[in-house]
Amino acid sequence: MRKETQNFQAETKELLNLMVHSIYSNKEIFIRELISNASDAIDKLKFKSLTNTELLKDGKDFKIILKSDKDKNILEIKDNGIGMTFEEVHENIGTIAKSGSKAFLEKMKEAKENKDLDIIGQFGVGFYSAFMVADEIILFTKSPESETTVKWSSKGDGTYEVEEIENVDDLVRGTKIILHLKDEDKEFAEDYRLKGLVKKHSGSIKYPVMLGEEKLNNEKPLWKLDQKDITDEMYNEFYKSTFMGMEDPLMHFNFKVQGSLEYNAILFVPNRTPMDFYTKEYKRGLQLYSKNVFIMESAENLVPEYLRFLKGVVDTDNLSLNISREILQQNNELTKISNNLEKKVLGEFTKLLKNDRDEYIKFWEIFGQTIKFGVQEMFGINKEKLQDLIIFKSSHDDKYVTLKEYVDRMPGNQEDIFYVTGESEEIVKELPKLKALKEKGFEILYFTDRIDEFTTKTLMDYDGKKFKSITASDFKLNKEEAEKDETLEKENKPILDKFKELLGEKIAEVKLGNNLGSSAVAITSRGEISLEMEKTLSQIPGNEGIKAEKILELNPEHPLFERLKNAQDEEVRDLLDILYDQALLVEGFKIENPIKFAEKLNKILSK
Ligand code: ADP
Ligand code: MG
Repeated sequence: MRKETQNFQAETKELLNLMVHSIYSNKEIFIRELISNASDAIDKLKFKSLTNTELLKDGKDFKIILKSDKDKNILEIKDNGIGMTFEEVHENIGTIAKSGSKAFLEKMKEAKENKDLDIIGQFGVGFYSAFMVADEIILFTKSPESETTVKWSSKGDGTYEVEEIENVDDLVRGTKIILHLKDEDKEFAEDYRLKGLVKKHSGSIKYPVMLGEEKLNNEKPLWKLDQKDITDEMYNEFYKSTFMGMEDPLMHFNFKVQGSLEYNAILFVPNRTPMDFYTKEYKRGLQLYSKNVFIMESAENLVPEYLRFLKGVVDTDNLSLNISREILQQNNELTKISNNLEKKVLGEFTKLLKNDRDEYIKFWEIFGQTIKFGVQEMFGINKEKLQDLIIFKSSHDDKYVTLKEYVDRMPGNQEDIFYVTGESEEIVKELPKLKALKEKGFEILYFTDRIDEFTTKTLMDYDGKKFKSITASDFKLNKEEAEKDETLEKENKPILDKFKELLGEKIAEVKLGNNLGSSAVAITSRGEISLEMEKTLSQIPGNEGIKAEKILELNPEHPLFERLKNAQDEEVRDLLDILYDQALLVEGFKIENPIKFAEKLNKILSK
């Protein structure tokens, strides 16, 4: 029989250290972690037994049993799930293989500086959380695929022991974990405390959680209950215990579909983006059950990419249980469910947008970007489905507006949908051009998310109306204005060309601007790459050279224009340089040479 003493891997040690010395006030979540591991272990056994019934030879009365001894400060958690072999104990308990724990460790280090300890709850911290309350843990485990039982123990210092032993009487199959509670944590050996905790954190674990003769939970799965019997608390508790969240979800959907397609689903929208949402580690997908048997944690093809923030459970009776997880991924039935779910969820969002704008905005401010990316996906394959879910803030009243609402209230002399791009609402609101247009009665959408312009480029138009940036060089309110401008432009052509000469290559053209309001100049762009796109794209390594073709627009009604026309060459050059830099600043760009800018400005000012 083998017996080894091992060092914890460096990262595990770090995590352990954090747990042992944790000043986290919410230590109690360790129980949720251990019970969820026990439940997972039973799930795994049930799933494996679908193809190997032998594994269940020691019974299928699945249970999780808690036992406490107040006098000895001991708490015991036992399950009759899959257990672990000698090798598996090393793999699963000795190392942090999972990205979740790694991410946790990193966040924890950050949080120590920020004193934001709440993040423990946002992660599945797992097995090691037991060291928050225990100064020694002994684990016995017996896999149905192994002859021997394995004993693992550690005091939470740098090492652990693993040893193969004769079977323990009360452990035919599964895992038993004995916690020697720290003195200050002996409350966790009190029955009343345990009952409360299980109710609070593990109420909807789907196997009986027993304390003596008493069953502490109601293991009928939530999605099998009558909708009218489910309270918001039950949804929230289910969400938190199943998806390891500390906070209530933003909203939930409960779908019971019957007919040629049959399934039950409970879906949640989290109330913030998960920590790893924008990384490769993030796994899209829903938990999949068939006939109450857990099939997989994260069935990817149950939700489209643009709804990847959804968490939830789908249970269907129509799957054959003998198929492998790989084949499941291309299963016809699942594709049908997925399409149906997508339609239903979009329907719910549409309803929400109509009936509860405030709630929709909450959702939008967390996940709107994901929906907008959905529009861009695959050259716009989803755009019809999604275009009426998009909202933008606008100059109308700085509130959100849908594209339909915008188009419906466009004045008669407006042909296109106007937007303005910029860093933030505060900045775009102050743009002279925007103010001037607003004064004339036009509404302008605020594109303050970097992807907005890409999204509307994919949309191409809405209701036949094109999207026009008010800062594009070819922006014209309407035909009448265009003609007026053309005449003026012709008259001033020679002087504008001269200005262009003086400014050099950084500018493609100098022209007269319309709708500049009280400001003397503006920078606009011509061609495919807009100013905002330049900002976004040039941040990508290798793309530094990507530049929008810039046009300097001068306001013919501004006194500075007269001054420019009449000044000496040197002064004209200085003025133009200053005006150019100033326009860049207003547009949110950096200026190339701030010192020169300041010098020239001072020179002109002191004249
Ligand atoms: P997670 O549950 O997120 O995988 P944990 O730290 O909670 O992370 O557990 C680590 C691993 O240890 C599990 O993935 C599982 O393989 C194993 N494990 C933990 N508890 C049990 C148990 N009661 N029965 C069988 N295996 C277990
Ligand atoms: Mg776990």
